[in-house]
Amino acid sequence: MNAYALSEGTYTVDESKIFIPFNSDTDSIKNRPASLLVEICPFLIITDEGLIIIDPGLGLINSEGEFQIIKNLSQLGFNSTDVNYVLLSHLHKDHIGGVAYEESGEMKPMFPKAEYVYQEEEMNDALEKSSSKSFEEKKLLFLKNRKEKTVLKGNTQFNKNIYCEISGGHTRHHQVFWINTATEKYFYGGDVLPQGTQLIRKFAAKYDYDGKKSAELRIEYGKKCATENYACLFFHSSINPISKLKFEDERFELIGI
Ligand SMILES: [Zn+2]
Repeated sequence: MNAYALSEGTYTVDESKIFIPFNSDTDSIKNRPASLLVEICPFLIITDEGLIIIDPGLGLINSEGEFQIIKNLSQLGFNSTDVNYVLLSHLHKDHIGGVAYEESGEMKPMFPKAEYVYQEEEMNDALEKSSSKSFEEKKLLFLKNRKEKTVLKGNTQFNKNIYCEISGGHTRHHQVFWINTATEKYFYGGDVLPQGTQLIRKFAAKYDYDGKKSAELRIEYGKKCATENYACLFFHSSINPISKLKFEDERFELIGI
């Protein structure tokens, strides 16, 4: 396997867009009305052209005062300077919180040697709405001002292993990633396909820019993954964040790997 979940844990989130840590042993979802229960799960993928981080999450500092994502990386034998690419599906704060951190009033990259990759139109939209609760303006400006970056304009074969495809649906220019590694192919659907269960329990989400489009795309992507043997990476799923899919008799089955 060449993909690893770098989970920052489980949270609830409601209209306020504030992510509140959720401990399944001691907390009850009943006490968090109108909230969604979500995992925050960035991924590391190892390719023959370098290490990729996909959507580095909230940038959570854990109880030991370390960045959880860096701790997760170190447990896999890597450190922050080993990362070559940071791919961003879209620019909501729960996906880009971990691109950088603030130290003495200055923004420092979480992955100093990495090239950061995002869609130009996604940034334009985000900057227009940067004061809304879904965004973190400082992180947007960090990305905009970073020299080591590639700003994509639409569908792009980024290198021989990474294909970036505009999906829309969740945000206007949300993108998904198709990634090849030496042993396995991976699909990352970002917030268009954030949980495997969304392939089984079909619905249009209110939090999407175009919920109907997202709902249709999920099924399309799921079928492609099943047919072409891609493993799916689910950013908001606490169970089986990396799964193979089976599609039989018009139904999906998830097989965690
Ligand atoms: Zn989002």
